[in-house]
Amino acid sequence: MIYNSTRDSSVGYTASQAITQGISVDGGLFVPEEIPPITSNEIRMLAKVNYSSRAAYILSKYLTDFSIEEIEDFTSLAYNSERFRSPAVAPIHGLYDGVNLLELWHGPTCAFKDMALQILPHLMRISARKAAQDKTIIILVATSGDTGKAALEGFRDAENTRIIVFYPEDGVSPIQKLQMITQEGENVAVCGIKGNFDDAQTGVKAIFNDPKTAKRLDTNNMMFSSANSINWGRLLPQIVYYISAYCDLIDSGKINADDLINVVVPTGNFGNILSAYYARKMGLPIAKLICASNQNRVLTDFINTGEYNRNRSFYTTTSPSMDILISSNLERLLYDISGCKDDEIRYLMRELKEKGRYAVSDKIFADIKSLFWAGWCSDEQTAQTIKNVFENHDYLCDTHTAVAVNVYEQYRKSTGDKTPVIIASTANPYKFPASVLDALGKNGADVNEFEKMDRLYEITGKEIPEPLRSIHEKGKRFTDVCNPADMNKMIYKLLGI
Ligand SMILES: *Cc1c(COP(=O)(O)O)cnc(C)c1O
Repeated sequence: MIYNSTRDSSVGYTASQAITQGISVDGGLFVPEEIPPITSNEIRMLAKVNYSSRAAYILSKYLTDFSIEEIEDFTSLAYNSERFRSPAVAPIHGLYDGVNLLELWHGPTCAFKDMALQILPHLMRISARKAAQDKTIIILVATSGDTGKAALEGFRDAENTRIIVFYPEDGVSPIQKLQMITQEGENVAVCGIKGNFDDAQTGVKAIFNDPKTAKRLDTNNMMFSSANSINWGRLLPQIVYYISAYCDLIDSGKINADDLINVVVPTGNFGNILSAYYARKMGLPIAKLICASNQNRVLTDFINTGEYNRNRSFYTTTSPSMDILISSNLERLLYDISGCKDDEIRYLMRELKEKGRYAVSDKIFADIKSLFWAGWCSDEQTAQTIKNVFENHDYLCDTHTAVAVNVYEQYRKSTGDKTPVIIASTANPYKFPASVLDALGKNGADVNEFEKMDRLYEITGKEIPEPLRSIHEKGKRFTDVCNPADMNKMIYKLLGI
């Protein structure tokens, strides 16, 4: 399997090259030259095996420069009962008739990023051996909250790697911040940015593409890579859980093999929903992909009008991991839907960079419109949804999941479509205890985050995951904060080069 760049189809890399490098030198993202099919028989066969085996089977279709032993080795290291608190790894929770939540937060950091970031360090380790002459890989991360912690946890003390995480100083929840600044491990560093997530992400992308920085690293036998969802190694493991969820629906008798389902994804950088798109393209029977946004509704507007326009106010919402105005992975969708027209993508991305907006061709717009449905909801609607879901279905969901549930309900009302549905549940509610408490009408303003967790437990009786319960016992290790313009200097300082 060869990987091309979305901005230059003539680039032809192996999977291990694409994963170690993270992003193409032309600024494009790596995509597989073709999407391998999965048949109905294969899906039925996968329904009989565990998550780790499902993952190995699916990954092997894309990682053709890895041996099956290598792949089975790292799927079993990533997806086991020491790492995930549920034996199913990503279990389905039936909410009401035909509506299922896919719980993606049973990993060590209680958010869906663990699904990919528990396996990426293994992919990176083997890829570096194959494609990067055993250089030390410097993982550079910009985070809106959850990626940072999940990447730190995944890469901590991993062989031959170091990891540096930048987060918007005032743009993450107090629990998310604590999770990061208390991170243990010898090869980790964390730094706040005076700016928002887009500033952090733009800074990281600029550093990746700066030849001077690359040279300085190279002379120190180091190279950058990315653990953001621009890295193919992040997206690939996410394809697995959509196929796995489908297997589980068959297994539990909720659908028959080959039945169509819809998928709803609370979306930020467009990585998670793009993985569902690839699963569909492989052959998973998905009818509609429903893209849910918060008040930063740039994707809702794009999918409904064909114009992407980031020139708008940025809002800090109660679903911070979706507070994004530049959804990087959309580039991969546009490339695929355009029929791999790299010149068209170069043009659109230049428009985005220079004018902050672009409009896609009528053809691309029509194709997107036929496959996707998009909606958004406000913080008030998100809170109301948390309350309704708890009162009507005895289920406590986090703010991001609630955005998805709300948008799904809008979809169902406006279309009447009752196709069985999987709604991606992307974080455990105890990651956002203040917003969830508020939503239930219990004001927790007077107490700290840990007391809020306790209060939420008293009211709901829903278990607090161990990794969140124990953060307050950990010491704070990282207090650096810098301007986006000084990220480069900070990196040199942290690496001692
Ligand atoms: C990262 C994240 C999202 C957004 O996912 P994308 O792949 O960036 O679209 C949604 N919810 C939570 C809890 C997240 O951590």
